[in-house]
Amino acid sequence: MLISEEESSRSAEYSLATSACIALNNSVSAAVLEPCPCLIGGEWREISGVSTSAVHNPSTSEIIAETPMCTSEQANAAIEAAAAAFSQWKETPPIDRARILFRFKTLVEENFEEIARCITRENGKTLVESRGDLRRGVDMVEFACGAPSLLTGETLENIARGIDCETVRQPLGVCVGITPFNFPAMIPLWMYPLALACGNTFVLKPSEKVPLTAIRIARLLERAGIPRGAFNLVHGGQECVTALITHPKVRAISFVGSTPVARYVFETGTRHGRRVQANGGAKNYVLIMPDADLENSTRGVIEGAFGCAGERCMASSTALLVGGAGKAVLPSLRDAATSLKVGPTDRDPQPDMGPLITREHRNRVAELIETGVNQGAKIVADGRAIKVDNAPNGFFLAPTILDEVQSTMTLAREEIFGPVLNVMRMDDLDAAIETVNRSAYGNGASIFTRSGRAAREFKHRVKAGMVGINIGVPASVAWFPFSGWSDSFFGELHMQGKEGVQFFTEQKVITSRWLSEEGDTIWSTR
Ligand code: NAD
Repeated sequence: MLISEEESSRSAEYSLATSACIALNNSVSAAVLEPCPCLIGGEWREISGVSTSAVHNPSTSEIIAETPMCTSEQANAAIEAAAAAFSQWKETPPIDRARILFRFKTLVEENFEEIARCITRENGKTLVESRGDLRRGVDMVEFACGAPSLLTGETLENIARGIDCETVRQPLGVCVGITPFNFPAMIPLWMYPLALACGNTFVLKPSEKVPLTAIRIARLLERAGIPRGAFNLVHGGQECVTALITHPKVRAISFVGSTPVARYVFETGTRHGRRVQANGGAKNYVLIMPDADLENSTRGVIEGAFGCAGERCMASSTALLVGGAGKAVLPSLRDAATSLKVGPTDRDPQPDMGPLITREHRNRVAELIETGVNQGAKIVADGRAIKVDNAPNGFFLAPTILDEVQSTMTLAREEIFGPVLNVMRMDDLDAAIETVNRSAYGNGASIFTRSGRAAREFKHRVKAGMVGINIGVPASVAWFPFSGWSDSFFGELHMQGKEGVQFFTEQKVITSRWLSEEGDTIWSTR
């Protein structure tokens, strides 16, 4: 066992499932197409007459649902519904809005296991990882429940004699959220609980690859008492997204996904005068210094690289072995990686690592490995030939490690988003920091060391928005901003934490002077 279940369920970003700590009580039912409706103006609608996109169980390749690829017609209807609900929702006292979110949190907790199973079924991550995905989302709901205390303004009396100044925070209006496939619960929950708590109305467009978790959680929000139209959900791809981000009644856009789409959403949204926060892809580095604790650094890198099958924007996809670190670390990484059990996640016993999201993505990752080998990288562990007897059609690729990767190689430049660890050798700390800082991305970077001086140097100089010291995946939790830099983030205000509250509100500054009946300014001389 690499980590305890308690640690794992607190944080999927840090976790890698272990078969020993899982007990699946119910077997997962055979594939029956699940309905995939939209929620518009408080009504669940099955959408017909549009193209669909298949949702697979990645462990078996079975089709479990068909996502309707909504057109601008459904996107516009959802925006209009959100716009109509705004005037009432914004006047609902913040504490009453928070009470609905408290009920929502309770309902999510009551249905926790069922939602975790749904995540596993449509995304393929292990149940421990799915629980972590949802737990991090619940953290965000809890944060949003406390929004009233973050919505308070400031006052200064007597900015001039008898004149007071105060600030108030007000909601923006209709906000939209567009989310990726890899965290079906957490990432939508980064967005709408806080947006709603701040008094906005919302339209969510989850990934067409994993629509079912979003629907399940939305039904709980409805049961918690969210007014009709305050929260809406549509499905689809480019056409739907473009309609959402260009609609004149939308005030703010939250996006998480790959860098090219993040850039498109940011540029299009801002061109139309919207407020945009857009998280993009990443390529994260982890430095191992010669003095690092071998066990801790091995565990950090292995969990970081292969947790969620490497399909994480915070995956530690490149290990920089500094000075003499490689001699002991590389065999340790190889042994840990090759001992991980890969298999179907939709049944007992649970593996350590599940499949990738689709066959196309699995094949793309395998091709990137081949390109790396052709460009001179050396295979240390090769996961491409894996056979999973009890799930022969699943989208599996076992942990792969490539050594002697050079920064000019395709492997080093492109986001792989799969269970592949690149290893690069560095002469010293300076060379390692320079390598990190040359990356176009800037989500996360970590160092394993016993030296305070090296750690201090690293955290001060490294160009990444989330930095780890003796931590493999330094993903920030709900109370802190998810703080990507460079091509990992487009915008000014990040998701989560106080920046999230700022993003979903606008400030008004009120300067007031009251006159007495005689026309004098009322101010005390005592
Ligand atoms: P993606 O960019 O393909 O899709 C994300 C969303 O955008 C989906 O809802 C999708 O339907 C929509 N979309 C896709 N193509 C579009 C287009 N041409 N125009 C408009 N909308 C479009 O990303 P994905 O494959 O679902 O997720 C993986 C990516 O997300 C990785 O690059 C990963 O690093 C990134 N990610 C980033 C973070 C972060 O916080 N930085 C977190 C999770 C995932």
